[in-house]
Amino acid sequence: MSTAELNEELSIFREMVCQFIENEVAPHYEQWEKDKIIPQSFWQKMGEQGLLCCDISEEYGGFGTDFRFNMIVCEEMARAGYFALSTNITVHADICAHYLLNMGTEEQKQQYLPKMVTGECISAICMTDPAAGSDLQGMKTNAKLVDGNYVLNGSKTFITNGQNASLYIVAARTNMEVKAAKGMSLFLVDGDTKGFVRGQNLNKIGQHAGDTSELFFEDVVLSPDRVLGAVNQGFITLMQELPRERLALACGAVAHAEGALRLAVEYVNERHAFGKPLAALQDIKFKLAEMYTQTEIHRVMVEQYKELHMSKELTTTQASIAKYAATEMECKVIDMALQMFGGYGYMQEYPISRYYVDARVQKIYGGTNEIMKEVISRSISV
Ligand SMILES: Cc1cc2nc3c(=O)[nH]c(=O)nc-3n(C[C@H](O)[C@H](O)[C@H](O)COP(=O)(O)OP(=O)(O)OC[C@H]3O[C@@H](n4cnc5c(N)ncnc54)[C@H](O)[C@@H]3O)c2cc1C
Repeated sequence: MSTAELNEELSIFREMVCQFIENEVAPHYEQWEKDKIIPQSFWQKMGEQGLLCCDISEEYGGFGTDFRFNMIVCEEMARAGYFALSTNITVHADICAHYLLNMGTEEQKQQYLPKMVTGECISAICMTDPAAGSDLQGMKTNAKLVDGNYVLNGSKTFITNGQNASLYIVAARTNMEVKAAKGMSLFLVDGDTKGFVRGQNLNKIGQHAGDTSELFFEDVVLSPDRVLGAVNQGFITLMQELPRERLALACGAVAHAEGALRLAVEYVNERHAFGKPLAALQDIKFKLAEMYTQTEIHRVMVEQYKELHMSKELTTTQASIAKYAATEMECKVIDMALQMFGGYGYMQEYPISRYYVDARVQKIYGGTNEIMKEVISRSISV
């Protein structure tokens, strides 16, 4: 396919996604925010429209497109201010689906991927223990081999899609004698497995429509075919997959900031003060110029990094730079946008207020921005 044909296809897909958002998301999103969950039936609607796991190959029920198509879904939902949706889809389609695709056995892929494409199976990635987030070495969740099966015990917290999921990819220590980096494995845990319990849907300050949960594992018996990837290699797997996750977070961040900028521009043109639109004030014009400059710089970066990711050249450092820089920019630009709304910006009926609360966690999950700086600093030789 020529570049022009591909661009045409991307643009038709983007239009279709925007239309879907207007018809199928906008009328219901407020209710989902109140319910603190997106209904499973909506996931299946996204599946029917071909919006989930677009880049999974046709042999597993997908459409065999590429990362850019996935990012159109993530970015347009973020731009429109339906950020919880963007986050929860990213976890399912850009993290979990790729763990299976890259590490799964043929049987595991056939079992889960087609249903993940249709939205019948929603997935979650479970790394964070209550006592260990940034420092996965401190993980206590463990799986011991007993009579040929693994017995999983422990708990996880802050798990995106924690309520809705029927497939959980769970990181657990499988060798307590060595450091977690050498003794951690990943397990596929079905939602109806005996001994597995979903805890409460956690109360967050933003992204209300996205379910985020505690999870408990008490003597969960897992046969060896439930191991995803090689035993004791889970930590290495996590590290290999993180760049994609971090780039996806950066893409969502840029689109979210672009959406907030668009809202601010509309508002300052409508709102008058001192006999003229706010947009005529030099301070406002300069702030808009600053916000536009910031979104544009980061847009260029993520577009370039998307290409590097697709040619398998994106480094861990670059992915960390993207996640750190884009999420910091997102929070700053959205804060500036909210300020332009004055008191109205602080009111929930104004969508900009939701951009503000939804953005904050971007600096925390997917590896905190302090951890991003730690990773980036390792690549700087002195
Ligand atoms: C809404 C939401 C959704 C999430 N979704 C998921 C999910 O789907 N799956 C999942 O596994 N996890 C998920 N998380 C967990 C998230 O990844 C962790 O919260 C994050 O990694 C930080 O871990 P922590 O909360 O334990 O903080 P801690 O690790 O305790 O960190 C506390 C503070 O100390 C700082 N800090 C820690 N170590 C260092 C260091 N070496 N140098 C400098 N500063 C440091 C941190 O940056 C942070 O500011 C989610 C979290 C939230 C809030």
